[in-house]
Formats: sequence, C-alpha cells, structure tokens
Amino acid sequence: MNPNYSRILEKEIQKIDESGVKPALLLHSCCAPCSSYVMEYLREHFRITVFYYNPNITSEEEYSYRLSEEKRLIGEYNRQVEAQDFEGMNSTEAAEKIDILECPYDPENYLEAVKGYEECPEGGERCGICFEMRLRKTAQAAREGGFDCFTTTLTISPLKNAARLNEIGEKVGAEYGVDFLPSDFKKKNGYKRSIELSRQFSLYRQNFCGCAFSKKDAQKREEK
Ligand code: SF4
Repeated sequence: MNPNYSRILEKEIQKIDESGVKPALLLHSCCAPCSSYVMEYLREHFRITVFYYNPNITSEEEYSYRLSEEKRLIGEYNRQVEAQDFEGMNSTEAAEKIDILECPYDPENYLEAVKGYEECPEGGERCGICFEMRLRKTAQAAREGGFDCFTTTLTISPLKNAARLNEIGEKVGAEYGVDFLPSDFKKKNGYKRSIELSRQFSLYRQNFCGCAFSKKDAQKREEK
C-alpha cells in the first residue's frame, strides 16, 4: 500500500508551524488551475516561489497563455495579501505574497527525451519521463537558488499517479541535496477546490494535459 502523502504533508506543516519559521519553497507549477488550490493551501506556511518549467507543452502560444494565467492568479493572490482581504478564500492574514521564476520554452529537450514513447497512453512511460524532467529541473533550481525545499502541483490531478510523482521527487531531491515536500494535493477536496477557484478567477482551464500527444487524445475523446 502506498503511503498517505496527504497525511505526511499535514504532519510536515504542523512541524513547520510549531517552529515558527516559514521555509522557502520552490513550487513547480504546470498551470494556474492546478496551482490555485496548492497556493491557497500552502501560502500560510511557506514563502512560495512558483517555478514555471514545462517543456512538454505543445506550442509556444499555449505555453505563454498558461504562464500569463499563472501570473494573473499570483497577482490576484498578492493583492489579497496587500489588502488583507481574503473574502471567498480559505486563507488568513498569515498568508505570504508569492513570487514566480519562469523558464524559457524549450520543447526540443522534452521531444528528445520522450522519443519512442509518443504512443504511450496518458499515465504510461512517457509521463514518467515528463515528470522526472520537470522535477529534476525544479530540484536543480531549488539547490542553486538556496531554497529549503521543493515540490510540484502535479499531484492535484486525478489522472496522475501521486505515488510515482513522490518517488521521483524524493529521488531527484536526494540527487541535488534538497528536501522534497511530499503531497497528494487532490486529497482533502483539493481537486474540487481547484475547480471552484478556477471559476472564481475565470481561469483558462485547458482540456488536455500539455503535450501534443495528450492534445490528440483529448481531441479523439471529444470526437467520440
Ligand atoms: S500526458 Fe501530460 S504528463 Fe504525460 S507526457 Fe504528456 S504532458 Fe507529460
């Protein structure tokens, strides 16, 4: 049986709160909807910098649009902190402002890494490679930037294997000597809350994961 990652995170947060020191967290994010709940949940306990590195995304236009939505949402959250106005949010005055670190769009590395796995179904081998690529880059950036820990919003998706993501996070964290924060953000109604927040902030919510292969699969599903 897999560990209860959601419970592990709760315990970790309890320890952090008791220490009275908010760690600097580098939070890999794939898009604004997935990060909406995660930022709402974590911003009281960590000093968050969002790390936008997603070479898997199918086109530059899609990449830029998701990034602009991510920045817009962070702007909304930061305004709440400045105004100390958390109406409609599950947040308190302990919430911290959020920063963002964005990476240039470099799809060539992703396409090279998943060569031969193009036809894998979502959730298969290709996704494992994709997760590792993004988490490794996040761990490296966390190390170079002197962050206390790193994690990813990806475990909020019911279509993604949280145990696999956590195993990869632990592995690359050990390689770079940075703590990985385990999670299963879909739990505790996290996924449901991300849908509510997406509506509240009118966020662009794409109907495919990110890569051209997942977009093709989504189109096929729609045609059916
Ligand atoms: S389906 Fe999503 S996680 Fe899987 S390879 Fe494509 S973009 Fe990456």
